[in-house]
Amino acid sequence: MASDQGSGDGGIVEPTRTGDPFEDGTLEVPNCPVCLHRMEPASTAAGGVYWACTECGQTRLA
Ligand SMILES: [Zn+2]
Repeated sequence: MASDQGSGDGGIVEPTRTGDPFEDGTLEVPNCPVCLHRMEPASTAAGGVYWACTECGQTRLA
């Protein structure tokens, strides 16, 4: 009986991720155009996503 299944198990170990792309650094975080502070991701009630500056309140579409 020839079988090509069941061989090569446990060869790949996926790296542990934080689960948060922002913490991961996989998303580029823009700087505030006004004060150059690092902006933070925020979302609207409608489900839209935008960047908000915690320093001066400037917002920017993602
Ligand atoms: Zn700002």
